Amino acid sequence: MDFNRLKGTRLKGKTAIVRVDFNVPRNKDGSISDDTRLQSALPTIKHLQKAGAKTILLSHYGRPNGKPNKKDSLRFIVPALVEALDSEVLFSPTLNANAVDLLEPGGVMLMENTRFHKGETEGDKALAQEFADLGDIYIQDAFSAAHRNHASSAVIGELMPAYAGLAMERELDHISQALIKPKSPVMGVVGGAKVSTKIDLLKNLVSKLDILVIGGGMANTFLFAQGHKVGSSLCEKDLKDTALDILKTAKKEKCQIILPTDVVVAKEFKANAKHRQCELASVKSTEMILDCGTASVEQLMDAMDSAKTLIWNGPLGAFELSPFDTSTVEAAKYAAKLTKKGKLVSVAGGGDTVAALKHAGAADDFTFISTAGGAFLEWMEGKPLPGVEILKK
Ligand code: AMP
Repeated sequence: MDFNRLKGTRLKGKTAIVRVDFNVPRNKDGSISDDTRLQSALPTIKHLQKAGAKTILLSHYGRPNGKPNKKDSLRFIVPALVEALDSEVLFSPTLNANAVDLLEPGGVMLMENTRFHKGETEGDKALAQEFADLGDIYIQDAFSAAHRNHASSAVIGELMPAYAGLAMERELDHISQALIKPKSPVMGVVGGAKVSTKIDLLKNLVSKLDILVIGGGMANTFLFAQGHKVGSSLCEKDLKDTALDILKTAKKEKCQIILPTDVVVAKEFKANAKHRQCELASVKSTEMILDCGTASVEQLMDAMDSAKTLIWNGPLGAFELSPFDTSTVEAAKYAAKLTKKGKLVSVAGGGDTVAALKHAGAADDFTFISTAGGAFLEWMEGKPLPGVEILKK
């Protein structure tokens, strides 16, 4: 994908406004429970420090609805940032362009929560201009916020030179490897609870992929649409026609659809519930399909053997409840093994996918796992992301 990169860009003496995502999860006592997002912002900040640029960091935190409040202040992140960078970090509670004068070249200043300003989530141009007035160039380094047309994540990029930060660059290069210029055959695995949340995604994927495996609760809707009995499973019966349309498009586009042929069923939705594996035809009315069966996993693995690229979103079963995590774990481990051997490029992301692949112990061996939820899904849906579009000019 063609977009503006930092490489070769003169940064010395410039003030760079960097959009990061410091919307980190926290424990009850306020401490950071997962600093992945903070860590991913570090390479760009260090790069700017080394180049002698001044860095202004912009981020949202929580949902303060355009009004400042103590709970959602970004001040809490400063000590963690100081420790991670091993350098001073200034904090500015207000949007004051003069505050930037306090910075030396190589200095770093974090501005207060962008969502304390009413215009942020409205994509207000005047607010974007206020952000832009803080510096000379804009660096978008928060892929996870790139699907939003907010003042600090996209609109500002229309007002000044805009570049991808190093984390954004890594993300864009990897995701384009999976859908824009992938090595074929390209295979998708889409699971999760409902078809209704992934209709656009499925429609886009069937027109781009060679093979699409549909698993998880959403497979039940497809099986029902095909006339199978799904008992008391999670199933969106009203989406029967949508499911049939997707299957029809897949046929037209020559995308092979793989649905479960055998399943694991239980009468209760709970861990270690009494369960059995059976053919589709013998699911009883009192039973719920909670995972794919052994033959289905074998078929999925055979398909992986034939694929060169894999894109994965969503678990294949109710993976939080043992033993209904079995097919997700086995399939994820197999994808990780093929990736490690260099036979597969594997890219995954969105919602529960990261948790599911971590649970399987497979996450480290995937080629790339995007921690961006909504942005990854919208990208898989084929929608332009405002925070990425501004980097293409
Ligand atoms: P999503 O956020 O759409 O990716 O959905 C993830 C959720 O789907 C997880 O909480 C899984 O437990 C759930 N899920 C997957 N398969 C099933 C199933 N067969 N029945 C009920 N829930 C499922």
